[in-house]
Amino acid sequence: MKIKLEQLSLKAGEKHAENKRFFAKLRKRPPKDLDYTMQELHNDEFERTDCLTCANCCKTTGPLFTNADIERISKHLRMKSSQFIKTYLRLDEDNDHVLQSVPCTFLGDDNYCSIYEVRPKACREYPHTDRKKFQQISNLTLKNVAICPAAFNIVEQMKRRIKI
Ligand code: SF4
Ligand code: SF4
Repeated sequence: MKIKLEQLSLKAGEKHAENKRFFAKLRKRPPKDLDYTMQELHNDEFERTDCLTCANCCKTTGPLFTNADIERISKHLRMKSSQFIKTYLRLDEDNDHVLQSVPCTFLGDDNYCSIYEVRPKACREYPHTDRKKFQQISNLTLKNVAICPAAFNIVEQMKRRIKI
């Protein structure tokens, strides 16, 4: 099913209770082949997904910047780390470095990321649907289905495919 971005938040809200129940069961009894299944569902969905026509993650949420991310990106931009932090980042309630504002400063009007080769690890891994032991990030995924249409579709496929 192709879901329209403008309907995503509403659709995710409708599915929230069902998804919560599914993930509670998944955490209790994760199937042995879960890593394999997730890799397959992730690959299938991203073969159909064109992130350049979406960029909703970059527009509505920002990544967390690790120290390694900050060092790598500052070097790429030929800035001192301290200057990079002062210009673009702030500390959130968990004391993590995050963007000062969204949409992300590095996102172009054409949805291309201007620091793509050196982008934060969190951006490279988003929406984390090919992560091993996927049941451990169910709370994060419950949020991500309202942001990322690919994650929404992957969770819908999971519920069809994984009988628990
Ligand atoms: S929200 Fe999901 S589908 Fe959209 S650009 Fe980000 S990763 Fe791609
Ligand atoms: S750094 Fe690039 S990939 Fe990450 S949120 Fe910003 S524009 Fe998107």
